[in-house]
Amino acid sequence: MSDPRYDYDLFVIGAGSGGVRAARIAAGYGARVAIAEEHRVGGTCVIRGCVPKKLMVYASQFSEAFEDAAGFGWSRPEATFDWHKLIASKDAEIDRLNGIYIRNLNNAGVEIVMSRATVAGPHEVHLAMENRTVTARVILIATGGTPWLDMALPGIEHIITSNEVFYLKDQPKRIAIAGGGYIAVEFAGIFNGLGSETTLVYRGDEILRGFDDEVRTALREAMEARGVKFVFNDIFTGIRKGPDGLSASLKSGGTLTVDQILFATGREPATDGLGLEKAGVALGLRGAIKVDSESRTNVASIYAVGDVTNRVNLTPVAIREGHAFADAVFGGKPTHVDHTLIPTAVFSQPEIGTVGFTEQEAAEAFDCVDVYSASFRPMLYTLSGRQEKMLMKVLVDAETDLVLGVHVLGHGAGELAQVLGIALKMRATKADFDATMAVHPTAAEELVTMRTPSRTLRRQAA
Ligand code: NDP
Repeated sequence: MSDPRYDYDLFVIGAGSGGVRAARIAAGYGARVAIAEEHRVGGTCVIRGCVPKKLMVYASQFSEAFEDAAGFGWSRPEATFDWHKLIASKDAEIDRLNGIYIRNLNNAGVEIVMSRATVAGPHEVHLAMENRTVTARVILIATGGTPWLDMALPGIEHIITSNEVFYLKDQPKRIAIAGGGYIAVEFAGIFNGLGSETTLVYRGDEILRGFDDEVRTALREAMEARGVKFVFNDIFTGIRKGPDGLSASLKSGGTLTVDQILFATGREPATDGLGLEKAGVALGLRGAIKVDSESRTNVASIYAVGDVTNRVNLTPVAIREGHAFADAVFGGKPTHVDHTLIPTAVFSQPEIGTVGFTEQEAAEAFDCVDVYSASFRPMLYTLSGRQEKMLMKVLVDAETDLVLGVHVLGHGAGELAQVLGIALKMRATKADFDATMAVHPTAAEELVTMRTPSRTLRRQAA
């Protein structure tokens, strides 16, 4: 299989989730593989994304647990929180995971090159640190994404993004967050839970565009009840450093004075300066690398997986794409990644778990949709006195009985989404849900005990 004309069979640029998986699997098939990384092995998810974020979500949830404990008979001294201790523990865990990633690559026989790497031709990669060019039969681009910022905004240099938020020296007493997507909503929950005064500024009129409307509203109301402040239909127009922190002006005319401003206004594919034009690789919207269903670009020897292709920007998707690429190109097993029915979680507080169509999407795509929706106070909150409700929705195609989507808001919703994903992937019907015995007493039993639709959506014949 190895072609002696090239230094490597595969050169991977970017040692994040997608790149590392592809490199290891290809090496397992006997390919000579190298992987270049300019920052830290592990990529966004492990180093400054999903993993440290989840650790911080856990940290921030203790304040709620302490409050709720009183209703169950616990009394305790005033709880205090040490930001520096959390960050140090988090850093140690990230170092450990980084070490595991490096070890796994080494064990697979993959050569790790700690350098910025750019494409110098269809089979050439330039390594900046060593100022040399190597050749490979196949090149895989897995450079991920990078926070998008409006660089024209006056004072933009004062803000932080998700790249910096994990390394703040001190906990901000007051923080403003720009954006209404995954990162904005998750960090609003983190900082609010840790005791920072938190304000989210969003240009639209409800958070999490694209999610089920009922879930969006219920989440926002729950976050408000927990203390997060929301400013809707507004954007930042300028940021100044003043004697009392950062002073931000808003389009509406208002101002906010805070200690930190986190911008979470989306991410874009990291293709800038990668040299793709030298190899003739075609780019699409926002600089995303255009690929076919096998992750191949328009240049036969160059492939791309993960966020840099801007298909579905989630870690497990990048891993699956990287694995499928290696199976197909080095294992002789053509594999297509199925991008439908991907279950996801938003680690907001309360949490969202979701798979399939939203109510709005289902109503547009199907003639007859039955909506089963239940909003109830979970048992956990009965003694604690917390008023927050859990929301569960099951959307059914009334003509075929197929479950089209399930949406959960509340404790453990992310864990539920994983299992619900299996059910929907297996094309579960409402009758299958009904035939499944409830697990009692759980909140999740509501998913199999909803018998009467809350509403029926019927498309009128034209
Ligand atoms: P999102 O795309 O989720 O959200 C971006 C937000 O910024 C939206 O609310 C958007 O508004 C707003 N926005 C965009 N442009 C502007 C602008 N010019 N001015 C003001 N607001 C603007 O991106 P995130 O940065 O939150 O997250 C990036 C990606 O990371 C996500 O798409 C997701 O794939 C991934 N991620 C996944 C997580 C998970 O699985 N739990 C957690 C964190 C990240 P509008 O809606 O109006 O366009």
